[in-house]
Amino acid sequence: MARTRTIAITGAASGLGKALRARLEGAGARVIGVDVHSCEISADLSSERGRAAAVGGVFTACGGVLDAVVPCAGVGPQHPSERIVAVNYFGAVATVEGLLEALGAGSDGPAVVMISSNSTTMTPGASGALADACGAGDEVAALALAGDAHPAVAYAASKVAIGRYVRRRAADLGALGVRINSVAPGAFDTPLLQQGLDDPATKDLIESIPIPLGRRGKPDDIADVIDWLISDGARYVHGANLFVDGGTDALLFPNRFP
Ligand code: NAD
Repeated sequence: MARTRTIAITGAASGLGKALRARLEGAGARVIGVDVHSCEISADLSSERGRAAAVGGVFTACGGVLDAVVPCAGVGPQHPSERIVAVNYFGAVATVEGLLEALGAGSDGPAVVMISSNSTTMTPGASGALADACGAGDEVAALALAGDAHPAVAYAASKVAIGRYVRRRAADLGALGVRINSVAPGAFDTPLLQQGLDDPATKDLIESIPIPLGRRGKPDDIADVIDWLISDGARYVHGANLFVDGGTDALLFPNRFP
């Protein structure tokens, strides 16, 4: 009989993380959820203390062996820039780094899927000093830079840094047998996006983003992709960033390859 897979998901109380949880549990996996509310582990990933509580809580709950980690917790551009960077980048990276030992401890094909965004390529300034400071692991400098950044730029920069983190860590994690990839969602119907749609300053912009497939994403659309990325079917996919945006990035930047 196949062993039950154990998967840690942050941000599992809502949106993409919640849909992924339902998808995996429906297939018989055990999910350990982390969120500020309504999950097995309550922790605020914006602080070092909260990150330690998240990692410690998951480690204890899984008995030191994990099959996958999916850090979905995040906040959107309606939040202060410092919080965006603290949660979306430093909280996600601390979760992965803190749980590496459990990922390398006995799973057949351990995997990490991080959540980037297609805002990375369509937001001017996203690839600047703030993303660099995140990549350098300097949270103090990054939060200082974030304080001067528009939240939309801070959001996109945090997601640029996620994509770069995946590429930078591919060599070392590959040597450990742990695959790491990211997805870059476009606009998905979740409470995070709804905050943007409810804000008169961003509503028109969000609604004007062209989507070749003609609709916004549903959380299940990405749950299926992440389910595949952590499965044996994706056993040779490593260090990749996959746009899951109905074709928006390709439409806006048709010649941006490689
Ligand atoms: P959501 O608001 O529905 O869910 C996010 C979850 O993260 C919530 O349950 C929230 O409580 C949790 N969270 C927020 N701050 C936290 C903290 N400090 N500590 C612990 N948990 C915290 O949003 P979503 O749309 O499902 O977003 C999931 C991920 O997808 C985020 O990283 C987001 O940036 C990314 N994303 C979303 C979209 C979209 O259009 N919805 C597009 C691109 C990327």
